[in-house]
Amino acid sequence: NNTPNGKLMMMHEEAAKLYHHILMNTPAGAQALKYLKGRGMTDELINDFNLGFAPEQRILKPFLEQKINDYQLLRKSGLFVEDNDGGLHDRFVDRVMYPLRNQNGRVIGFSGRVIGKVPAETPKYLNSPETPIFNKRRTLFNFDIARKEARGTSKIYLFEGFMDVISAYSAGVKNDVASMGTSLTEEQVGILGRAVRQVDICYDGDSAGQNAIDRAVTLFRDHQPQGMQLRVVQLPAGIDPDEYVQQNGADKFAKYLVDQEETPVDFYLRFYRLNKNLNNQNELISYLEQSLKLLATLSSPLEQDMYLTQLAKEFDLDKATLKSQLQDISRRLG
Ligand code: ATP
Ligand code: MN
Ligand code: MN
Ligand code: MN
Repeated sequence: NNTPNGKLMMMHEEAAKLYHHILMNTPAGAQALKYLKGRGMTDELINDFNLGFAPEQRILKPFLEQKINDYQLLRKSGLFVEDNDGGLHDRFVDRVMYPLRNQNGRVIGFSGRVIGKVPAETPKYLNSPETPIFNKRRTLFNFDIARKEARGTSKIYLFEGFMDVISAYSAGVKNDVASMGTSLTEEQVGILGRAVRQVDICYDGDSAGQNAIDRAVTLFRDHQPQGMQLRVVQLPAGIDPDEYVQQNGADKFAKYLVDQEETPVDFYLRFYRLNKNLNNQNELISYLEQSLKLLATLSSPLEQDMYLTQLAKEFDLDKATLKSQLQDISRRLG
């Protein structure tokens, strides 16, 4: 703890404590607390994730200066923005604070959310900048808890957002992480691949979410370790996991995650249809060709056969014809 990085983590932990205190015990945090309660957060959840509030008045600097009289350390922490004269000012102002922890549970950064509706031109979530202790590409929200929780099942759910993780956690699903807003990185895939045998991607049910699943599946395909399994859980159109829990309750969500688990192939057979009119013969043919190309990459003949049956049935086609076309494609891909 006396190393520079140890001190930086300690500063973050002090900051998290202060923000949490402001949220729970002071009038300055009342509005933020009301906002979180309105989103279904209980005191227990707020405590478990050590959520906080950074008020309008910039309080962190005087607070930390009492404990640390090392300008360079304060500057490097990323907790402040630096003005032209080298003056430091609290970075997070008027935001609900989500502490970000490393694999050992130490606080290494924050993400701060605007309360309520997000004004135009304002980022909904503001993250800590890169610092000696915080590398966004290697950080997964809640990973320290998730990997412990996954010891039995060896499975982790991957969500888009912090609130999705917290809502799933409240539903008793604690083996879950979120990938810091930016699209999933190679580093995060590596970290997950070393930790568990199976990852279930459960992104938002909007079109951004569908494209993000496609990107994530591709990234896993190229970088996941041998033998790792990938699954997708598709949410109903337009809603995210947190909204699903708010609308349908925790128990339904926990059940949904199990019932709706599907293979990446199932996902793609649906994904390829988006923006296609399958009543149009050309578009149907192009959809089928795209699908057969995907099936050609499967190593299991049994699996191939199951999907061929499914396609033949759905479009009232001769399965033998589909099969011979699949064989053509496989030969060409060789
Ligand atoms: P909420 O439920 O609080 O409105 P969300 O998680 O549903 O948020 P999305 O718009 O689905 O928000 O974005 C998913 C995730 O992407 C967020 O949880 C956050 O980690 C990240 N994110 C969203 N907007 C930004 C932003 N402007 N800057 C950085 N990260 C962001
Ligand atoms: Mn989203
Ligand atoms: Mn969302
Ligand atoms: Mn949401």
